[in-house]
Amino acid sequence: MIRMIGILSDSHDNLNNLRRAITIFQEAGCRLVVHAGDFVAPFTARELASLNCPLKAVFGNCDGEKIGLEEAIKPFGEIKPAPLIWAENNLRFLLTHLHHEVESLAYSGRYDVIIFGHTHRPEIRRLGQTLLINPGETGGWLTGKSTVVLFNPQSQTADLIFL
Ligand code: MN
Repeated sequence: MIRMIGILSDSHDNLNNLRRAITIFQEAGCRLVVHAGDFVAPFTARELASLNCPLKAVFGNCDGEKIGLEEAIKPFGEIKPAPLIWAENNLRFLLTHLHHEVESLAYSGRYDVIIFGHTHRPEIRRLGQTLLINPGETGGWLTGKSTVVLFNPQSQTADLIFL
């Protein structure tokens, strides 16, 4: 069975939308959820404890309460300063928050999947051998559209889901 990876970013304290995202990830049977930063307050990060899988996350530019976020996430995952780099299923992942350097990182050829956020606008495109994924904003405050991504590591395809 293919186990999907759930991807979200910029939840910006929108607890209701975050709960919708969690439901989508649970129903998809995600084995990992990735958050590209800008939780803002630790209380929303604690909500992700109800996922049935680990969380990997990076701090966004609006994540000031770093110790609180670390403590909220520690029981079920990790949050680090960007970038967070790991490999699994023969795929090399890079997770960051800001969008400015993702194209250069893609051209380096070192990563199969680069996940980022910050712009609040969804973006899924291939650049050379690298798949760039911005899941848009979970919060929905800026664009009025709340989106997440389900990534299939076997087919290396990413689907945008509207909450
Ligand atoms: Mn940001």
